[in-house]
Amino acid sequence: MIDFNFYRNLSSELKAANIDLIAVSKTKPVNDILELYNAGQRSFGENYVQELKEKVGKLPADIKWHFIGHLQSNKVKYIAPFISCIQSVESLRLLVEINKEAIKNKRTIDCLLQIYIAKEETKFGLDVNEANEILEQVNNGGFDGIVIKGFMAMASFSYDLSLIRTEFKMLRKYYEQSKLKYSSPFIKLQTLCIGMTNDYKIAIEEGSNMVRIGSAIFGNR
Ligand SMILES: *Cc1c(COP(=O)(O)O)cnc(C)c1O
Repeated sequence: MIDFNFYRNLSSELKAANIDLIAVSKTKPVNDILELYNAGQRSFGENYVQELKEKVGKLPADIKWHFIGHLQSNKVKYIAPFISCIQSVESLRLLVEINKEAIKNKRTIDCLLQIYIAKEETKFGLDVNEANEILEQVNNGGFDGIVIKGFMAMASFSYDLSLIRTEFKMLRKYYEQSKLKYSSPFIKLQTLCIGMTNDYKIAIEEGSNMVRIGSAIFGNR
């Protein structure tokens, strides 16, 4: 069940604050996505290549699809023709593959580096040193198919709100430092994508300008 009241309030609040809303529609049917589209939403996030591929053909072409799940290099080719942004870049190898497939499709694909900030072993992402190595490489050039637009991260799954806030603060600091350090045709840092249903308010207080919200809009999965 879509919570349209919540959606309308949230989306106008975010619009006023210049924060992008990615509606996370993983596991939700095409019909739900279409209903939210008809309410004005244009950016959607999906986690699974197969599921995304099946949905795309059945939905309006002006939807901006963000890939937010773990992505294997050998699957990039399936989404490269249409994906707007890949938020879950967690290796240079994956980035090289995205670049190659983007060029093949005569496109530029926006990318976010997924940074590991949680105190959990299970979360994917790069540590700061790994992210710096990638940014250095890309800064040197040769990546005509991609633009690194910023960072994405997930905080610990925890009721400890101060822990979540600390994790977001760390990332914000790294983001601000990186913005000063890197700027090239292939690196234009302007997006800090943090905040999900349970922690988006904290994320916004800590500088998020793109949130990824699923269950609060679409209902529990
Ligand atoms: C599922 C998911 C979300 C949305 O989570 P909700 O808690 O339902 O808002 C956001 N980001 C990522 C990476 C996800 O996998």
